[in-house]
Amino acid sequence: MSTTIDRQALLTRLGVADDVAASDNPGALAVRSPVDGAPIGSVAVQTPADVKDAIGRAEAAFHAWRSVPAPKRGELVRRFGDALRAHKDDLGALVSLECGKILQEGLGEVQEMIDICDFAVGLSRQLYGLTIASEREGHRMMETWHPLGPVGVISAFNFPVAVWAWNFTIAAVCGDPVIWKPSEKTPITALACQRLWESVAGDYEHAPEHLSQVAVGPADVGEALVRDPRVPLISATGSCRMGRSVAPVVAARLGRCLLELGGNNGMIVAPSADLELAVRAILFSAVGTTGQRCTSLRRLFVHEDVYDTLLPRLKSAYRGVRIGSPLADDTLVGPLIDGDSHARMEAALAQARAEGGDVHGGARVLEQEHPEAFYVEPAIVEMPGQSAIVLEETFAPILYAMRYRDLDAVIALHNAAEQGLSSCIFTTDLREAERFLSPSGSDCGIANVNIGPSGAEIGGAFGGEKATGGGREAGSDSWKAYMRRATNTVNYSNALPLAQGIKFD
Ligand code: NAD
Repeated sequence: MSTTIDRQALLTRLGVADDVAASDNPGALAVRSPVDGAPIGSVAVQTPADVKDAIGRAEAAFHAWRSVPAPKRGELVRRFGDALRAHKDDLGALVSLECGKILQEGLGEVQEMIDICDFAVGLSRQLYGLTIASEREGHRMMETWHPLGPVGVISAFNFPVAVWAWNFTIAAVCGDPVIWKPSEKTPITALACQRLWESVAGDYEHAPEHLSQVAVGPADVGEALVRDPRVPLISATGSCRMGRSVAPVVAARLGRCLLELGGNNGMIVAPSADLELAVRAILFSAVGTTGQRCTSLRRLFVHEDVYDTLLPRLKSAYRGVRIGSPLADDTLVGPLIDGDSHARMEAALAQARAEGGDVHGGARVLEQEHPEAFYVEPAIVEMPGQSAIVLEETFAPILYAMRYRDLDAVIALHNAAEQGLSSCIFTTDLREAERFLSPSGSDCGIANVNIGPSGAEIGGAFGGEKATGGGREAGSDSWKAYMRRATNTVNYSNALPLAQGIKFD
């Protein structure tokens, strides 16, 4: 694949050429590609008043969609999955172009959308409730799951399409319309998903209009969704800072929040670890997506017996990593999203040095070719301990490496991060592995053995504890967040016995 791409042809094939004006219209949102810093175009921005109207349309869609049988809702998602398969290459390329992740990861993100469609289709026939033994004669108890209402989805730049698909496909089979506020850094991929969805839904007789709507704009567009009591569920993905401003507003109106916030993910490499496996896992999870995954590996705890063997191997693997255009076949590390992100990386490295860190890598590269784009060498920083900067999530490829001696102590250090998203241990010792997964082990929503912290499958529930927000998305029983549960008791006897044996004659 060449490193250049016919941007206009790509936008046309994805049906968004008209949405993306070639010049910067006044008031529109200008979108630049992190690949070279050049403008892709500009898109129209919604206002909070527009969001109010969108919510009204979503409510109307909800009233129709909630009565469509769930397997018929699933059929629409099945068709959407087929459309994604047909457009996988183009949408994957647009993801690379707009958010800068390498093409393989762009394609992987679209594959994740396809996978969640398949999952949601199966789920549409499995929205099971329990039957419950009643304590009263002639009574039956059961749980029924009903559609909830319009869902507001707020997403981050680094997974510009998959996170929406995790939410949207599950919400759709559960009977809920979605209004999507994508990151202001990646609105074009959102519009491409919307156009693709419209092309499928428009041909489906059971689908009302406005099951999916996109509201492009800055934080105030998201805030309009967050404030509105007609939106019973806000699913918000982004920084802890964003979560801290969204959660109290939703709580004040007693709405429901599904928060997928920042991570500061750790790996423990024990003395018995397969170091070859560990090096490969560290490389992918610390360097992949240029360190811009919520699940990126940021804190590496290596047992003192293997530290001096592992670190040289790791540094040599880092030196072999190819940095460059994410559209080129052999690139492993693309650009950071923008200059602000680069400035934060530099500040973090400076602070790490001040806190006693020994920094390897981290320099800006390709500046001559791309003065407006921000390519960096991934950095390994050997730290004397878990200082303040190590406990911060810097959204860049910085890996802090530390020695440890004792398992209890390292688990405590591992759990000292305020976030609790993803974690792992590399060991071939069964006791250590089980300990890490036990109640006194990792306190994260994701805990792995001999697998890095990033690259989760959609079949499991995805999310984290503590400052990561506690939400769960994608597989397992995450669907329950998108429905309301009714407990039903039916009396088919001629008497009216009260629960707890109460007499009220
Ligand atoms: P961000 O918090 O800057 O923005 C995320 C989204 O929230 C954007 O759409 C933004 O416009 C919106 N937003 C910001 N403030 C808001 C407010 N007050 N009300 C409503 N909406 C608001 O995050 P980012 O820089 O785009 O993404 C990086 C962060 O996201 C990292 O912290 C990363 O760990 C996290 N993230 C988490 C997950 C997860 O699943 N846990 C996944 C991806 C990214």
